[in-house]
Amino acid sequence: MKISFRAALALLVIFLAACAAPAPKSKPDSPLILISIDGFRADYLDRGLTPNLSALAADGVRAEAMRPAFPSLTFPNHYTLVTGLYPDHHGIVNNTMVDPVLGKFSYKKSAELSGRWWDGAEPLWVTAGRQGVRSGTMFWPGSDVEIRGGRPDYFLPFNGKMTPEQRVEQVLGWLDLPADRRPRFLTLYFEQVDHESHDHGPNSPEADAALRTIDSTIGRLVDELKKRNLYAKTNMVIVSDHGMTAVSDQRNVLLDRLIDLTHVDLVTAGVLTGLNPKPGYEDEVEKALLAAHDHVQCWRKGEIPARLHYGTNPRIPAIVCAAEDGWQLQTQSFLDRPNARHGGGEHGYDNADPNMRALFVAHGPAFKHGLVVAEFDNVDVYPLLAQLLGVRPEPNDGNAATAREMLR
Ligand code: AMP
Ligand code: ZN
Ligand code: ZN
Repeated sequence: MKISFRAALALLVIFLAACAAPAPKSKPDSPLILISIDGFRADYLDRGLTPNLSALAADGVRAEAMRPAFPSLTFPNHYTLVTGLYPDHHGIVNNTMVDPVLGKFSYKKSAELSGRWWDGAEPLWVTAGRQGVRSGTMFWPGSDVEIRGGRPDYFLPFNGKMTPEQRVEQVLGWLDLPADRRPRFLTLYFEQVDHESHDHGPNSPEADAALRTIDSTIGRLVDELKKRNLYAKTNMVIVSDHGMTAVSDQRNVLLDRLIDLTHVDLVTAGVLTGLNPKPGYEDEVEKALLAAHDHVQCWRKGEIPARLHYGTNPRIPAIVCAAEDGWQLQTQSFLDRPNARHGGGEHGYDNADPNMRALFVAHGPAFKHGLVVAEFDNVDVYPLLAQLLGVRPEPNDGNAATAREMLR
């Protein structure tokens, strides 16, 4: 075969370039388990009720606190954790929303609704899947929906009746699969602490009992990982989505006293109220709500303080009102409902509120030992997770320096 001088030169250049380029980084093979304990306020870790979590923190990394994204609600924050985007940017702006095209979203029926609610962002399990990393999600908001054509390799539809133990069993079952089917990115989700703190308050014996239950479930996961010789190579990132504050019937501001409720479409009320004035009533409603009120502050969506990163998404109503810690802006008809909750706990407040502070504990071969880091924003978790998986992240709002500080 004759080969021209030019072609030979080109081949030589390609050969030399290949020699000079660094070898493609082999992907880390450690499993990553992302665990969410819904409603676990940062200081719950100091109650002396969670020895297994404390042991992981002592041997790994803990944050003094993690700042949730605003609003400090479950669905917006869980999606922030797996996308690195503020809710305004990923589109899950509340647990309950109205979209100009898609209509109404309720977190309670999220699995039945279009994946288009979620496709303002790509969750980590989809990105990981495209890059050859399998995932198994033992519940996570959005994990039971097809998003941008992808799903976790293994997932279950949300079922609150599945016990914490059964959820751990499922994760272990996935880790026991043969290597060619085994997921490397796993999630685990527990709502019990959130539920008990809502029903009985953050300082209740019931909330404490739920803390103990979930902590011992995590202890069991650790024991089972050890039995399988997996503990030393598994990275665990344990977070919550927000904290919790005690509320009371004595701390309700009545929305009916501020505006004529027939002049608005009310999207949400309570800790975070969102509403759209009906045509012709814009000025009247704005005048009433934007004025100064005790315990509640309202804004036009475009005028929400920049630090909250909230207000550009079309799913955010025209007027947003945030209640002061421990307070709620409620309608009389809601308070009169037979199943209305009286007292207990709530969240959804300003993300700078100390009671909304969330949990961050991480442990595993990638992490430093015994490090306590200062409070950081939960948008930073996503670049950390992507790095642990060796996955190229999607564009995000997170700061990669947070991961650099924690990793060995
Ligand atoms: P909230 O505390 O009001 O923000 O709502 C949180 C509740 O959402 C949890 O306590 C769960 O009962 C529920 N939940 C959590 N994950 C899912 C999910 N993937 N699908 C449906 N509901 C969920
Ligand atoms: Zn939550
Ligand atoms: Zn909750």
